[in-house]
Amino acid sequence: MCGIVGYIGKRKASEVLLNGLNRMEYRGYDSAGISVIEDSKLITMKKKGKVSLLESIVDHKSLTSTIGIAHTRWATHGYPNDVNAHPHSDNSGNISIIHNGIIENYYALKIKLTEEGYTFKSETDTEVLAVFIGALYEQVNDLERAVRMALSEVSGTFGIVVLSSHEPDKLIAARRGSPLVVGIGKSEYIAASDATAIVQYTNSVVYLSDNEMAIITRDGFTTKTISNRKTIKAIQEIKFSIDQIEKSGFEHFMLKEIYEQPHTIRDSFRGRLLSEKGNVKLGGLSSVKDKLRSAGRIIITACGTSWHAALVGEYLIEQIAQVPVEVEYASEFRYRNPILNPDDVVFVISQSGETADTLAAVQEAKRKGATVLGIVNVVGSSIARETDAGIYIHAGPEIGVASTKAFTAQISVLMLIALYLGRMKNLSLADGRKIAAELNELPAKVESVLQNAEGIKSIAKEYSTAKNFLYLGRGNNFPVALEGALKLKEISYIHAEGYPAAEMKHGPIALIDENMPVVFIATKDDIYDKVISNIEEVKARKGKIIAIATEGDSRIGRIADHVIYIPDSISFLTPILASIPLQLLAYYMALELECNVDQPRNLAKSVTVE
Ligand code: GLU
Repeated sequence: MCGIVGYIGKRKASEVLLNGLNRMEYRGYDSAGISVIEDSKLITMKKKGKVSLLESIVDHKSLTSTIGIAHTRWATHGYPNDVNAHPHSDNSGNISIIHNGIIENYYALKIKLTEEGYTFKSETDTEVLAVFIGALYEQVNDLERAVRMALSEVSGTFGIVVLSSHEPDKLIAARRGSPLVVGIGKSEYIAASDATAIVQYTNSVVYLSDNEMAIITRDGFTTKTISNRKTIKAIQEIKFSIDQIEKSGFEHFMLKEIYEQPHTIRDSFRGRLLSEKGNVKLGGLSSVKDKLRSAGRIIITACGTSWHAALVGEYLIEQIAQVPVEVEYASEFRYRNPILNPDDVVFVISQSGETADTLAAVQEAKRKGATVLGIVNVVGSSIARETDAGIYIHAGPEIGVASTKAFTAQISVLMLIALYLGRMKNLSLADGRKIAAELNELPAKVESVLQNAEGIKSIAKEYSTAKNFLYLGRGNNFPVALEGALKLKEISYIHAEGYPAAEMKHGPIALIDENMPVVFIATKDDIYDKVISNIEEVKARKGKIIAIATEGDSRIGRIADHVIYIPDSISFLTPILASIPLQLLAYYMALELECNVDQPRNLAKSVTVE
C-alpha cells in the first residue's frame, strides 16, 4: 500500500519521480505529491486524486532539481485531501518526508510536540513524524542523527524517505515493516517501495531490512541499523523487464494478467515437473525435505485471494498427500496465540511478500519454533527473506489490484507441493504420472477457457444491474465460489457472497427470487449430482442460474439460464479452470458499470498495514 520514491542523481528529479509514481500507482491512488529542492529551497506540490492530477500541476520545464521525493497515498489517518497528501514537512519547512505505514504512537507524540509549541496542518500520523524529526534537528543539527533519534522513538511501521534543504545532497531512507528497495545506477540512486519504479533505470538493487536505513548521496550510499551499527548489503538483480509492467495493448492490467495465465501457470511448473517420475523437484524446499516428510500437520495462512488459494491447497494436500491441513487468516493466526507442535509446518502465501498480517504471522510461527515456508510472487520480498525456505510462484509482476494470475499460480504451486508430498508418502508412481500429465495439459486448457470471453461478456451485460450475486460450489470448488464473489465485489462493487452450495439451504436461500443471479460451479465430479439438486432448488424459487460446467455436459443446459463450459480435467485442477470465467465475469461486469478496473475504490495492492 502506498508508493514512495526518492531520487538523487543527474536527471531531472521531477520526471523520474512522476514516472515512478505512475508505475506504483496500483499501490495507492487517493492523492499524490512531490518535493524537490530548487534554489536551495524545498518545493512541495500535492494533490488529492490520481497521479495524473498531480502531473497537471507539476511544470517540469520550470524545475531543475536532481533530487526529490514523491508519494502516492492510501490513506490510513485522515481523509484523502490535498493537505493530508504526502510529502509532509516539519515546522521550519526545511525537512520533507514521505511515508508508507502507520506511526502507532503518533497521538502521544503529537500532544507532546503541541505542548512544546509545534503546530500541525494535517490529520496524518506522518506529519507528526516529520515535525518530530524537525524538532530533533533543531537540537542536533544533523539530519541523519535526527532521523535515527526519531525512528528509535516511534512505534508502528514505516518505509520513509527524508529530504532536507539543510543537507540538500542527501536522501535518507529507512524501513520497519514496510518495503524499501534502493536502485543503484551510475551516480544515481532511486529508493522506492517496489522495483517497478526502478527497473527503467537500473536492474541492480539492495533490499533494506527491517530497522535499517540508507544514507544516499550522488557518490554512493551507506547502510546502517537505526541504532547506528553499519550493515553490509548484497547487490541483487531485478529479474523482470519493463515490458512486463506495461499494458502491452490491453485495455487494463487486469485483462492482460487474466490472459497471461496460460504462460504464468506454465512458468510456475517450469523445471519443477518430473513427468516420467510422476513427481516434482522443488529446489526451494530441499533444505526442509525431512521436516516436510515428517510433518504431522500443515497450517496454511494468508489473506484475501491468497487465503482462497490456501483453501484449495487444503483440499489438494489432504486428498493427494493425506496430511491434515488447517487454513487460517493470517490476521487471526497472529493474535489468537496459535498452538503449534514441533512437527507442524506452516506455509504462508502472499503475492507481494509484504502483506503485513502475513508477515506478522511468519514472525509469530517462527517465534513458536515452527518451520515456516513461503509461497510468494515478488522475489526478494520480506516474506521471501524471513521464511525458512519457500517457493516462488513466478507469475511476474501483478499490477491489477484484483489478483488473477497470482491466484492461479499459487494454486499451481500448491498442486506441486501436494504432488511432492504425496510422492514422499503413499501416492503411487502411476497416480503421480497421471497428475503430472494433467498438469502438462493445463496451460492449453486455460487457453481454451479464455476463448469463452465473448459469451461471458454478454452474460455480464444481462446482469450488470443486479444488486446481489450468490456464488455456490462444493468441495474444492467452494473456494472458487468465494474467490468469484470477491472478484465481483472488488472491482464492480456489487454485493456478492460465496457459499458451499449445500449451505445455501441454511440461510442464503431466503434471498433467492427472480432478481437474484446465482453462479454455480457445477463441474463433473463425484458430487455433481448433489450440485445439480442445489441448482434445481434455486430454479424452483425463480433464481437466475449461471453455471460453470464441464464440456460435454448436456444435462446442465436444460436447467441453467447460462452455461460457461470449461474443459474436462481431473477434479484437482477444476479450481484453476473454473476461476478464470469468474475473473472474466467480474471484469466485464465492472466494465459495464464503468468502474475503474485497475484501481478499484478503497483498495490498493500490497497491503502493508494491519
Ligand atoms: N499513515 C499514512 C497516511 O495516512 C501513510 C499511509 C500510506 O501508507 O499511504 O498518510
